[in-house]
Amino acid sequence: MNEMFQNALPILKRLEEEGHRAYFVGGCVRDLILARSIKDIDIASSARPEDIQRIFPKTIPVGIEHGTVIVRHESVSYEVTTFRKEDEYQDYRRPSKVWFVDDLKEDLSRRDFTFNAMAMDTSFKLIDHFGGREDLERKQIRTVGDPNLRFSEDPLRIMRACRFMSMFNMTIEEETMLALKSKAYLLERISTERIAIEFIKLLQGVQAGIVLNVMKKSSVLDHLPTVMQEKQTGLYQDFDWNTLESDEQRWTAILLLSDVSDVREFLKSWKLPNHMIKKVGELMSAYRITSWSKLDLYRFGLETALSSITLKSAIENKDYAEEIVQLKQRYTEIPITSRKDIPLDGKEITKITQRKPGIWLGKLLEEMEKKIVEGELDLSTSALKDWVKRWEP
Ligand code: ATP
Ligand code: MG
Repeated sequence: MNEMFQNALPILKRLEEEGHRAYFVGGCVRDLILARSIKDIDIASSARPEDIQRIFPKTIPVGIEHGTVIVRHESVSYEVTTFRKEDEYQDYRRPSKVWFVDDLKEDLSRRDFTFNAMAMDTSFKLIDHFGGREDLERKQIRTVGDPNLRFSEDPLRIMRACRFMSMFNMTIEEETMLALKSKAYLLERISTERIAIEFIKLLQGVQAGIVLNVMKKSSVLDHLPTVMQEKQTGLYQDFDWNTLESDEQRWTAILLLSDVSDVREFLKSWKLPNHMIKKVGELMSAYRITSWSKLDLYRFGLETALSSITLKSAIENKDYAEEIVQLKQRYTEIPITSRKDIPLDGKEITKITQRKPGIWLGKLLEEMEKKIVEGELDLSTSALKDWVKRWEP
């Protein structure tokens, strides 16, 4: 058995010794069957949070009211959650009420999709009440129970269905698909941050283009934080999302392929962190550069320049290998990477010119920097001093 499960086993055994039941549940069981790398091991148990805290020496109460306690074991964190069921999701954010239950099946039945509702016991026997394994084999996504009900309870599951579809290269079972279409409008009640988390995972998936197209046809794209429309039919689906390397590239691709009038507004509506908005803005500007001068390269940096080429290559479906080599070469020819590399600072310059610091100083530095970058001015202190002496505003 997989080492991660072996390492977690003592926790389950310990719970059993204390008279409780304990199982591996959720994503880890699914990923084991799919032979995917396992992120973390989640455990469900009949033990109550206070029992868990008593039994294990190192615990962190991360979500006691939802029955979740982290157990630390050999420097690894395990979420141990008491079997529970949930009331209807009144505010569409959190379950309005959580009840602890004694039955594993009841706990599994509250989970979103059949393949996320499997468990495994301490002898690694699979417990699969809802046909998750078969759905994995058929590569289909199916809710546990009535899909209309399950999507109404928690419309985020609509995004999760799309995300799993993209990650696992799956299709959506017919009834589930019909419900997804008819409940898509409920996504407007879900917090933007939670939608954005699922959306970016979707774009990272192996089948993002096809899924975006499914989302378009099922009107999910109309109920995202901003209505998302392709500039032209087929752009999302034909685009090779798998060549992208970072989330800023993925957001930029969305912008370039969509009908967006105000980039900032769009990114803000997704409540993306400021650093991401900044990076995407830079990448958009870099993307518009058709022939990279040394000064462009210096200003944007090599990484952003290459990133924009990756995007261009994906959008135009063209090979830019030669340009990449040239860019890298050109970048090595730039003597500085930032102003800090100039061996003459503002203080020294005011001394040389015998002027009081003012706007002129910024202008001088900018000009000097530009000349150095373009190779018109030597980086030696004496050459720089000479140039400063001769400089006129
Ligand atoms: P990942 O590998 O990306 O973490 P995951 O399936 O583990 O995928 P999580 O968000 O970590 O996803 O959730 C853990 C488990 O909790 C899921 O496998 C599922 O059983 C359950 N779950 C998560 N979100 C929901 C939800 N919105 N509705 C019902 N069950 C959910
Ligand atoms: Mg998980």
